[in-house]
Amino acid sequence: MRICVYAGSSVGARPEYRVAAAELGALLADEGIGLVYGGGNIGLMGVAADAALAKGGEVIGVITEQLHGHNLSHTGLTRLEIVPTMHDRKALMADLSDAFVALPGGIGTFEELFEAWTWAQLGVHAKPVALFNAGGFYDKLAGFLDHVVEEKFLKAVHRQTLVVESDPRALLKSLRENPVPYVPKWLDKVAGEQPPK
Ligand code: AMP
Repeated sequence: MRICVYAGSSVGARPEYRVAAAELGALLADEGIGLVYGGGNIGLMGVAADAALAKGGEVIGVITEQLHGHNLSHTGLTRLEIVPTMHDRKALMADLSDAFVALPGGIGTFEELFEAWTWAQLGVHAKPVALFNAGGFYDKLAGFLDHVVEEKFLKAVHRQTLVVESDPRALLKSLRENPVPYVPKWLDKVAGEQPPK
């Protein structure tokens, strides 16, 4: 099993974020779960990768030629894949992974998280997606997503597929025990469609 971790290229303002990234990296290694991520050596991404590597875990980085050219790649990974574009990068990260976790981060992290979650909603894959809510960082986003359900732009069943946990072990348990239910977004248009493998 491998988990794709999206995380800030900054460490953020509070020490809780660094602690959470290190805890997640170490836990994945302890559990024999590979970590797939953006391949950077900076921010919470670098903290999670270093923590997994320190425990002997498998860490696969997927980085673009442009970022690699700016010496932003981690040099001590199990494997580093260098790809032409951001789209290639996200596709490969998703292909290599069985689930997705977003640590605190900025708009790059959000973009990656929402793409993975949208693909689950559309049935492109059936891999679970989670927010690691370290220090309550994602409380406001979770509240906003509830508002989106109330305003009928998101089905409650799809909202519930997004795991939100502040403890890494509970997060891993939720990912393992709550497979994504296949509920096509376009119920009225896709009669009889089969779930993705
Ligand atoms: P952000 O949350 O805006 O800091 O962006 C972090 C996300 O975007 C990560 O999950 C990475 O996949 C990607 N990213 C942004 N900056 C870099 C970088 N310097 N090196 C590697 N990946 C990056």
